[in-house]
Amino acid sequence: MNPVALITGASRGIGRGIALELAKLGYDLVLNYATNADAARLTAADCLAAARAAGKTIRTEPCQADISRSADRQQLIEFTRATFGRLDLLVNNAGVAPGVRADILEAGEESFDRLIAINVKGPYFLTQLAARWMIEQVEIARRNAAGPTDSHGAYRPKIVTISSISAYTASVNRGDYCVSKAALSMLTRLFAARLADHGILVYEIRPGIVATDMTGPVREKYDKLIAEGLTPIRRWGTPEDVGRAVAAIAQDLLPFSTGEVINVDGGFHLRTL
Ligand code: NAP
Repeated sequence: MNPVALITGASRGIGRGIALELAKLGYDLVLNYATNADAARLTAADCLAAARAAGKTIRTEPCQADISRSADRQQLIEFTRATFGRLDLLVNNAGVAPGVRADILEAGEESFDRLIAINVKGPYFLTQLAARWMIEQVEIARRNAAGPTDSHGAYRPKIVTISSISAYTASVNRGDYCVSKAALSMLTRLFAARLADHGILVYEIRPGIVATDMTGPVREKYDKLIAEGLTPIRRWGTPEDVGRAVAAIAQDLLPFSTGEVINVDGGFHLRTL
């Protein structure tokens, strides 16, 4: 039986990159999206092809859900349960940037509420739902060898949240985004502390500047900054870079780490003198 991953915002960008890497590892995938069904179907098909090329057979299922809505989060978990009957890995990836970048002395509440709902409330309560189900599965696996097991005979569930360098970098023209990403760092610590006794490991991945639709409008600005040395590794990040970090976690390569932050940012976080 394949392990199962649920990835939010998997239709495009970083979520899609994560899905492709997990497909190669032989994960069955629930590919969540908000509105873009065609992109989700394309990702699903590309994941099947990536898995096949790696000698794996997997299933992929797109699932529409707006993670800011309670009923949709419930339905996403129920869909995963009904379709695959288990959950090994939750990847909280879906997130949005403000529609307009506005100075924090001017920015309005509407954008703030939208970002908090999608970027914070969504992953917070989806993690709560996933964690409750994972605890159930851990108990079943402990009591009964017929519970969910991986090829090594152990069920070792994990939760990964994609935050950002904006968790600690002050951008005064998108304070709502920065505040939302900083909150995800605490989400990771809280759930890591709460779930360790259950054998559930929790991680935060902090991407730097990654080429996706989200950064499309500021591409030229960042081309210039990167060329001038903004990041010690002078290139854009790719969805695959983030996907490979998630793949390391998925392969249980960090078994004595939880609440850990993994920077996937070309060294942006380094202070140099
Ligand atoms: P993107 O290309 O804009 O893709 C966003 C994804 O999230 C899409 O799959 C979208 O679905 C989905 N989504 C948006 N709102 C949603 C909602 N309410 N419910 C469910 N899914 C929703 O963004 P990205 O650049 O890949 O970013 C992915 C994550 O990485 C975000 O959390 C972002 O903050 C973070 N990040 C990005 C960068 C970067 O430089 N790109 C850097 C650091 C962190 P649809 O296709 O249906 O719209």
